[in-house]
Amino acid sequence: MKHVHEQLYIGGRWEQPRGAGTIDVVEASTEEVIGQVPEASTADLDTAVARARAAMQDPDGWGGWSVEERAALLDRFAAVMAERGEEFAQLVSRQNGMPIGTARAAETGYPAGLLQMYAAMIRGQEVEDERAGAFGGTVHVRRKPVGVVGAIVPWNYPQTLLFFKLAPALAAGCTVVVKPSPETVLDTFLLAQVLESLGMPAGVVSILPGGRDLGRALVEHPGIDKIAFTGSTAAGRQIAETCGRLLRPVTLELGGKSAAIVLDDADLSSNIESLFAATMMNNGQTCFLGTRVLAPQARYDEVVDTLTDMASSAVIGDPLDEATMIGPMASATHRERVENYIGIGKKEGARMTTGGGRPAARPHGWFVEPTIFADVDNHATISREEIFGPVLSVIAYGDVDQAVRIANDSDYGLGGTVWTQDLERGLEVARRVETGSIGVNTYLPDPVAPFGGVKDSGIGRELGAEGLANYQVQTSIYLPGKEV
Ligand code: NAD
Repeated sequence: MKHVHEQLYIGGRWEQPRGAGTIDVVEASTEEVIGQVPEASTADLDTAVARARAAMQDPDGWGGWSVEERAALLDRFAAVMAERGEEFAQLVSRQNGMPIGTARAAETGYPAGLLQMYAAMIRGQEVEDERAGAFGGTVHVRRKPVGVVGAIVPWNYPQTLLFFKLAPALAAGCTVVVKPSPETVLDTFLLAQVLESLGMPAGVVSILPGGRDLGRALVEHPGIDKIAFTGSTAAGRQIAETCGRLLRPVTLELGGKSAAIVLDDADLSSNIESLFAATMMNNGQTCFLGTRVLAPQARYDEVVDTLTDMASSAVIGDPLDEATMIGPMASATHRERVENYIGIGKKEGARMTTGGGRPAARPHGWFVEPTIFADVDNHATISREEIFGPVLSVIAYGDVDQAVRIANDSDYGLGGTVWTQDLERGLEVARRVETGSIGVNTYLPDPVAPFGGVKDSGIGRELGAEGLANYQVQTSIYLPGKEV
């Protein structure tokens, strides 16, 4: 076993864990244990939070850093992330089955870009602005860091989704206690090494591997000022209830069941790579994918054929192989869940045109063939619930109004796409879809713009200037006018 860690990174120090638990990490494509790390206990959590609070209040430490000092640190951080990118990409890919090409772009390039973006953003932002008051005086409006952030991250994009939180939080001057998913903890130990090499000041970042119990303890901890969560809607609801009771600010990036609306003039064959990315990226283990493909009645068979060809020709294999387009599911449990939905699709009468099984050439690893279901009703279970695997439902519609109605008839509202040769028409349709973000002939969360969901897909936004604002509190100081 190559990746064995015995200590935890708590507020800038490597320490023996207080508890005795360990977490084994299993490679998705071989089912072999490739690493082991300590499981953090609630005693470790107490230490992390105490150090994070102390760092916020330390005028000679993190609490006293200027904007320029933080921005310079983020720039150096970005450079190291880029330098060590391949190590991150390989580790993520081995743990969760992400094809290596996706891992290089999403799990290394994106975090480095976010650090640079937020460094530039804080350099350009006044910490305090002065406004002419309505009653003759002046008001100083000050942006302060929100405090100690608890960041809870899922396994599907473990680095990127962590940096959605870490980059703006550090930019704002917060401290962060990170709880990664047990399936993907090895990359966070690499991250801890990077933080150490940067000389991250004491208390600023802690990394606490653990499962949902530790997640719950973090959400409820009295020393936490804000929770940033990405994960399932079920967990998000519990976290929202707790944060509601505690009046604790929270952002929730949750599940999705987005629509890919194919308009009658769409040219799918010349957009096939974008279509694949927007519907099956990372083996379908991506929250924003358009897994309900809405096809016009007049072109229904053609759309089903195109998707069937796309899925059946996708190269399934070792995620570390650059030719691989579909790797394994992240865990045995998760494959079971995906296969269970395929069973439900068949039982409910949908017509499976390709896939449905395990690839014969892959006896090891949690592989599932990319699967297309045609003749699916929007009320079928596989159209309502998030499968989180390479499984698409193709749903027929009559006119564009009906397509928009079907797209909006979902508990979720996270991503989505419109496919057309007429960008203006695509934009018009995109505006009518109830969702947090949507693309025309393309989909990739752009870091300059807010990302998040409506309905059961979540509360709040990450990325963009809006993402930075989540980690700041605005305070107002009133000064009298001369005559007052
Ligand atoms: P999950 O909700 O089971 O776990 C996510 C994280 O939360 C893990 O670290 C887990 O240990 C922790 N956790 C679980 N229950 C908790 C609780 N009650 N309190 C505190 N922490 C808890 O989700 P998952 O299976 O790891 O990830 C897949 C889900 O994440 C999918 O539903 C997917 O759509 C969603 N997701 C959303 C986005 C987005 O930006 N909207 C992005 C990626 C993934």
